[in-house]
Amino acid sequence: MNSHIFLASPHMSDEGYEQKFVKEAFDTNWVAPLGENVNEFEKEVAGKIGAHEAAALTSGTAAIHLALLAIGVKKEDVVFCQSLTFSATANPIIYVGAKPVFIDSDEETWNMSPIALKIAMEKYKKINKLPKAVIFVHLYGMAAKIDELCAICNEYNVPVIEDAAESLGTTYKGKYTGTFGEYGVLSFNGNKIITTSGGGMLVCNGRSEQESKKRADKIRFWATQSRENYRWYQHTEIGYNYRMSNVVAGIGRGQMMVLNKRVDKKRYIYDYYKKKLGILEGLSLIPMHEWEYCNCWLTAIQVLPKCKIKPIDIMQALEEDNVESRPVWKPMHLQPVFAKYDFVGEENRKYNVVNIDTGADDSVSGKLFEYGVCLPSDTKITDDDLERICNVIKKLWE
Ligand SMILES: *Cc1c(COP(=O)(O)O)cnc(C)c1O
Repeated sequence: MNSHIFLASPHMSDEGYEQKFVKEAFDTNWVAPLGENVNEFEKEVAGKIGAHEAAALTSGTAAIHLALLAIGVKKEDVVFCQSLTFSATANPIIYVGAKPVFIDSDEETWNMSPIALKIAMEKYKKINKLPKAVIFVHLYGMAAKIDELCAICNEYNVPVIEDAAESLGTTYKGKYTGTFGEYGVLSFNGNKIITTSGGGMLVCNGRSEQESKKRADKIRFWATQSRENYRWYQHTEIGYNYRMSNVVAGIGRGQMMVLNKRVDKKRYIYDYYKKKLGILEGLSLIPMHEWEYCNCWLTAIQVLPKCKIKPIDIMQALEEDNVESRPVWKPMHLQPVFAKYDFVGEENRKYNVVNIDTGADDSVSGKLFEYGVCLPSDTKITDDDLERICNVIKKLWE
């Protein structure tokens, strides 16, 4: 049996940086959601991406939850959310009792379509229900059309939450993703470009350093049960147990030292697939653009609808060769749990189901789900592994 190739697995530094920082936490007994690793990890991430402040939390999901609270999203409010994403982007909208409206992607970036966003703004303005926030995503590390999306949000005076959980290290026009919205969300879950086993961060982008600090301190306060500065446990607000532990932050500090290396390897993997598979008829890679420097977290491909080879054929052939792959995210508007919420696409029409098994429809995101596959993008992958994967796929075209 061939060795197993993972889609994306945790990759600790060869030098053992993570263990050094974790050991420090043990040696000083700061095995708590407080300590030097937490403070330094926050500073290192904020410094790297050029943000004023970032608050370390237990997950990216927690970061989105607290961002919604910070913006003041309440029960019955509307929040616009990219449909093509992981459910973690949308779930916190429900936690705060608000109503998601799902927005379709554009073909060029696979991320939120500015055209669809504009249509949705007009639609909800008419009924006096403009959203309290817009959440867009940089899927698989590829930057969304940030300028266009932010211009529309500005026009309607709606704050932006940028879900950069998959795009740490990606820049858009020279500036890091996660620093464009009022808040930026990062994740250090096990399969992300760097990992702390589980964890997240909320990047706070105020107009001034002072304002960002004020925001981040409020996030840290909520994340530690809203405990106030008294001798006894005093609370005037509902709190959350969302603060990152000092042990976990130690792993993060070690991982930050290899982030650039991980990005380089992910980009190498993307280029490899592009060279070997980009030539196959009807197959294309998730597009990369001149305006971005992409972390290439996962390389996703797409086959044309008329192509005889279907994603399921590719995934099955890889599985038989002991190689992990997976479908592109199933859009939120097609998830049974979110079926009752509105969906706005680039065209003003009802989208038709094209696959009754998967539930895919003929919206842009529905088609990306139907015709897309994520290929192994593990940073421990070797050239031999990549060649093996490409040969399995190329054989289907012969
Ligand atoms: C991973 C991920 C999240 C959530 O992060 P967790 O740390 O797993 O809670 C949110 N959005 C997207 C797009 C993600 O990929």
